[in-house]
Amino acid sequence: MKLIDPCNRHLNYLRISITDRCNLKCIYCVPRDQIPRLTHKDILTYEEILRIVEIGVRLGITKLRVTGGEPLVRKGVYGFLQELSRIDGVADLSLTTNGLALKDNLARIKAAGINRINISLDTLDPKKFYKITGLDLFQQVWAGIELARDMGFNPIKINIVALNGINDDELQDMALLTLDHPFHIRFIEYMPIGESQMGSGPLLLAPDIKKRISELGQLIPVRNAAHDGPAQRYRLEGALGEIGFIHALSHHFCDRCNRLRLTASGSLRPCLLSDHHEDIKGPLRKGATDDELADIFFKAVQHKPSDHNLAVGNPSRVCGQMRAIGG
Ligand code: SAM
Repeated sequence: MKLIDPCNRHLNYLRISITDRCNLKCIYCVPRDQIPRLTHKDILTYEEILRIVEIGVRLGITKLRVTGGEPLVRKGVYGFLQELSRIDGVADLSLTTNGLALKDNLARIKAAGINRINISLDTLDPKKFYKITGLDLFQQVWAGIELARDMGFNPIKINIVALNGINDDELQDMALLTLDHPFHIRFIEYMPIGESQMGSGPLLLAPDIKKRISELGQLIPVRNAAHDGPAQRYRLEGALGEIGFIHALSHHFCDRCNRLRLTASGSLRPCLLSDHHEDIKGPLRKGATDDELADIFFKAVQHKPSDHNLAVGNPSRVCGQMRAIGG
């Protein structure tokens, strides 16, 4: 039995948030005030995650991404990544990180069987990095990115959340990085999820970002392969890297969505942008069998909405916090 939802989408991609903690406080991800944290016993242990993943893999999950919070702040993460990569049937394992811990840990990440990493970096300006994240550590992230490139990680995707009035003056510079570096630069629309420090001003959407980038030269389309994500991909003439646009709000890609999420607190969430979730931690801790846990996967899949309801001009927000759901 595979994980096929009512819209006939085959869900084979599980994103796992292993912690809601993060060493950065990005203005679009966390509120200004102190935020309640999950306690140690609220979050799934690595053993629990591995059991859930093994069940998912039996149901057809082949692709995994480890995220958070900041996954690299959780103790024991490198051994956990290794265990994940050893699960039979996992064809693709990747990691999303803010890059702070990369420089000193890339060898361990590689040894764990990971070759693809996504690094979030919203600016090339160290002062702005401080303003966005609350820490003056741009150079540390950049050193990690350069080392990852030198060590042959491929692709290295750099995720940029496009923020009006904050980094919109740098979008072209970010795109120009692809001329000399093999990076995949991904421009992501800001999504109103949970509490953050963002106001309700106009959003910077993918068509506008693309228009600004096109001023640099012709954007040559790159075809998506079967396992690729939702980005619309392009390359500038002669560039080593590529540019992608992820238009979660302005042009939904729900019809192609193959994702399920396992939250740090132990729920299966069929859609990032809808608050429906199925508790899997509770039954697991009460001794549920593998078949019973598999049923929770099927239940979550049945609730995958055909389309999410976040849209441009729609003031509704998703309640869950990105850091606990796993972006
Ligand atoms: N700490 C890791 C990182 O920084 O990449 C992983 C977790 S973070 C929540 C995952 C991704 O979600 C990051 O690329 C971040 O920029 C993005 N993100 C967080 N809040 C967002 C929002 N409201 N809209 C769009 N992207 C968001």
